[in-house]
Amino acid sequence: MRVTVLAGGVGAARFLQGLVQVVPPECVTAIVNTGDDLVFHGLHVSPDLDIIMYTLAGLINDQTGWGIAGDTFACLDFLSRYSDDTWFRLGDRDLATCIHRTGLLQSGQSLTDATVALSQRLGVGVRLLPMSNEPVPTQIVTPDGVLSFQEYFVKRGQRDEVREVHFPGIEHARPAPGVLGAIAEADAIIVAPSNPFVSIGSILAVPGVRQALRERRERTAAVSPIIDGSAVKGPADRMLRSLGVESSAYGVATLYQDFVSTFVIDEQDAALADRIRELGMKVVVAQTIMRGPSEKRALATVALDAARG
Ligand code: GDP
Repeated sequence: MRVTVLAGGVGAARFLQGLVQVVPPECVTAIVNTGDDLVFHGLHVSPDLDIIMYTLAGLINDQTGWGIAGDTFACLDFLSRYSDDTWFRLGDRDLATCIHRTGLLQSGQSLTDATVALSQRLGVGVRLLPMSNEPVPTQIVTPDGVLSFQEYFVKRGQRDEVREVHFPGIEHARPAPGVLGAIAEADAIIVAPSNPFVSIGSILAVPGVRQALRERRERTAAVSPIIDGSAVKGPADRMLRSLGVESSAYGVATLYQDFVSTFVIDEQDAALADRIRELGMKVVVAQTIMRGPSEKRALATVALDAARG
């Protein structure tokens, strides 16, 4: 049994915690968004890869959903004596990850190889694949101008209206080694509950990925990140509205209908099932809010069954 998951950050990491209770971690591949990667004081930071890696390694700070539990900020505090550029909150241990990753990249390794090295050392059994080894930084167009993803998300706290999302240069990016194979060879493909534009949209924009998924539509399921019109966390609901899509599970389904055959929606959205079926998708109604381990496991089981038809 091989399962491939398309993944952003926190929502995906929590979903993967459930999945590894149902299938052995070695059978799971996560294709992870790298559109929100950034260079911070010369260090290569991959926020979504690290959120997933720390979560699966049992190191995550559960309060924030990012960073390492119990981490300290001595380095960042001292850095603030030299620089005003300390808005991206990286703890001391988190910085160690980024220092090691940057060293591996500078010695000529790809992000794929560096990710294998880091996740092996942290004892992560799931195969984590960056969507691409080429940098493809997401840009957010707002009424005040164009922002990098992390300026929008962290520095300005997602307060700007999002008018457009761009992936400049992505037409020249290639899927990282293993990505197309993980789609072609999977017994089940699951789109995690992640932001449809800036987490999943970036992965879909890598040339060849969307087409590869379309060819596996019958084996692909998605979990809605929108419940009762709202995101569980983050700006996905506001982004849907400002980008002209209905802020609902139905709205997300319209974005995925060409490559997803079964859509998992929350019990609170059962009334949307018929409209989603009219898009040519099957619908599974389930409890999709992941609080504790048993809810994560239950959602993973539902999504896996949905993807396997
Ligand atoms: P980010 O990059 O850290 O913001 O994380 P993701 O892109 O992976 O996930 C953000 C999306 O996941 C948001 O739209 C949330 O609504 C959704 N999400 C988070 N937790 C849950 C959950 O327990 N259930 C469901 N259905 N969606 C969730």
